Amino acid sequence: MNLDSTDVQLLQALQEDARQSFRDLAQRVGVSVPTVSARIANLEALGILAGYHAAIDPEKLGQTRVILLVTCRPNRADAVGRALAKFPEIRWTIRTRGSRLVAEAVLRRTTGLSALLRKVKSTDGVLATQHHVAEKRFKDAPRAVLSTALSATVACFECGKSIEGQPIKLRLGGRTHYLCCTSCERLYRERYVRMQTASKSR
Ligand SMILES: [Zn+2]
Repeated sequence: MNLDSTDVQLLQALQEDARQSFRDLAQRVGVSVPTVSARIANLEALGILAGYHAAIDPEKLGQTRVILLVTCRPNRADAVGRALAKFPEIRWTIRTRGSRLVAEAVLRRTTGLSALLRKVKSTDGVLATQHHVAEKRFKDAPRAVLSTALSATVACFECGKSIEGQPIKLRLGGRTHYLCCTSCERLYRERYVRMQTASKSR
């Protein structure tokens, strides 16, 4: 699904500074305040705008960043990824091709490093681990690259599968809902009506 220039400009503005008011955003992008509010609600519903976070610099707090490269047994990388994701020191982790994981850990003291490496190495499915302690940072930009002509992967609100091509857009309760096919559209509409009736009868 393609995002139009209003969506892109809103995402750019929010990625720079998520604390701007809807009024400031409306002025910057050149649309009305209700348009800003509707577009943001929509970007949130699509999971594209996934949250609003403060950017806190771990190095200013004397914390150490460590990059981990983890090689896993074939077909075990997802399970290892889920296990690593539970460790509080691990701040993000991704699986790459070839059953490997890349992760960043942030440690309050370097003495915690050997304990962390022990935990990682003893995780079921891990074959080998390399680690690199960060010494100097050159860039740390937010991760999405925002330019015009963005297209987004949208998951069907009914079945959760990612929608190939143009989604079916359903306007209900002042919001846009995205469906992959007419049968999901029918099921979703029925479910929505049931939910509305249930919440009214409460
Ligand atoms: Zn569907």
